[in-house]
Amino acid sequence: MMSFVRALSPYIICGLLLSGCLSAASDESADILLKGGKVYTFNWDDPATDGAPAKNAPYSSGVWKPDAEAIAVRGSRIIFVGSLGDAEKYRGPQTRVIDLEGATVIPGLVDSHTHIAGLGEKQSRVDLTGVQTEEEAVARVVAFAAKVPKGEWVVGRGWDEGAWANRYPTMKLLSERAPDHPVLLVGLHSFAVWGNKLAFERAKITRDTQSPTGGTVVKDQNGEPMGVLLNSATTLLTSAVPPPTDDQLKAHVLAGLNVMARDGYVAVHEAGADSRLMRAFESLAAEGKLPIRVYAMLSARDADLCRAWLAKGPKLDTAGNLTVRSVKAFYDGALGSRGAMLLADYSDKPGHRGVSGKGTGFDRQLAAEMMKARFQVAIHAIGDAGNRETLDFLWAIINGKENGPIDYRARIEHAQVVHPDDFPRFALMNVIASMQPPHCAEDKAWAEDRLGPERVKGAYAWRTLRRNGARLIFNSDLIGSDHNIFYGLHAAITRRDKQLQPPNGWHPEQRVTPEEAIRAYSTWAAYAAFWEKETGVIAPGRWADLTVMDIDPLSVGASDPGKLLNGNIRLTMVGGKIVHSIKPSF
Ligand SMILES: [Zn+2]
Repeated sequence: MMSFVRALSPYIICGLLLSGCLSAASDESADILLKGGKVYTFNWDDPATDGAPAKNAPYSSGVWKPDAEAIAVRGSRIIFVGSLGDAEKYRGPQTRVIDLEGATVIPGLVDSHTHIAGLGEKQSRVDLTGVQTEEEAVARVVAFAAKVPKGEWVVGRGWDEGAWANRYPTMKLLSERAPDHPVLLVGLHSFAVWGNKLAFERAKITRDTQSPTGGTVVKDQNGEPMGVLLNSATTLLTSAVPPPTDDQLKAHVLAGLNVMARDGYVAVHEAGADSRLMRAFESLAAEGKLPIRVYAMLSARDADLCRAWLAKGPKLDTAGNLTVRSVKAFYDGALGSRGAMLLADYSDKPGHRGVSGKGTGFDRQLAAEMMKARFQVAIHAIGDAGNRETLDFLWAIINGKENGPIDYRARIEHAQVVHPDDFPRFALMNVIASMQPPHCAEDKAWAEDRLGPERVKGAYAWRTLRRNGARLIFNSDLIGSDHNIFYGLHAAITRRDKQLQPPNGWHPEQRVTPEEAIRAYSTWAAYAAFWEKETGVIAPGRWADLTVMDIDPLSVGASDPGKLLNGNIRLTMVGGKIVHSIKPSF
């Protein structure tokens, strides 16, 4: 109520009474005026490579202070940021005033490595996490199936096959209650699937179906399949589910982007879009339906798609809705599955150094041509050999001329294990290290087993990269990891997991500061997409891309970072449009 009364204060009254005042106000007036917030513009210099804030940062004696209170937005751009008093002159009769009630505003968050269709697909599945009984699971399926056309698959996930191992469900109840849809319910750990009669019919699993090696078709005393398949037998059922149609894929993309908007993100960098996914993005962009910005990296595995883009050149959307100027390639595999290429043997598997670049690698010729045609390359490299050879490849093209005639801004996606000799090469070639704080929090359980005590020092080595002058950006690599920004910031600042373990952080010398973590999810991500003149900081003339949260991530991140995990997003604004708000009145 207080904010409403304040919303009626002087300028509207002035505008109603004095036409001169009204026209003066409307010339300058904002469409939206955000006030009463703790605004951190990040429009000050970058921190030093050891994390120390710049001299002109709003920081002294270990304490952060917001450097503005109000933001005025007109159309898609910010027209003012500063004090509440100065903001008043942008209030016109049509201005929508939003009282932020003390919430914190930072430059819009960017998840710079996502697989967005997977996130959307997750929204189109029955969520069975936490169900205790077969009846409860079936009830959720029935409720979900009511919205799905008869005959279409209903897919769910999350019943706990470990906890239910002594009392596996059967297809009986599921088939009785959900007779009109084939139903596939994947276990929490993907080691078991459960289906109904129609699903088994579609998959042609009968009493004659043999259990494959390493798997079991669970059968009753009469030899009939009971409804559950274990381990390698799960694919008998999962492979019967048709891939999404173009329309379904588009719906998944939109659902995924909406989740990201809700969770505070103004943009995603999609890490590898093939022809079908590109069609979904392009179609949503043409219809004006993209809720947040998409910076799409073309999948180098789709050579036809890349060749087609090579012929027409990068798409630099000035409005920044859908930008296509990047290519995603793979050099090696993952560390957990020992696919990452290492210079020496895996510490826990002598004689093994990962998967050769040839099998999983990329078409170097194509990548080089695209770089010369001014496409950015973003190459997945995880092991120290993978990173070295990727840097060698880039060196051959860039030839040591930083930002030479072409501003390449090449990226290494993951840059997870780097040999000490290779750290300086990132800065030398202006290669961006695109890294995932959640991976560090999750992989710490086994990373040292794979790498041993020495090599692990160069793993997830954010501070070492910073000290060597490398540009760093952070992201989730969803859906493999949780994209929740508070989880990401907490992992970056503490190197702890969600259970706050280990208390002092895993290899804490590699932590980054709260400011660096936020910049890696905003300001620096803007640079990685060539958007640094358009966004990345809150300043007049920039895109009105803002994230509002109920916690001050700079102060809390510095004083009690564990509390970051309780943070919530209150509002997301993209190009002046409120795409998410916890208050309908916003
Ligand atoms: Zn990825």
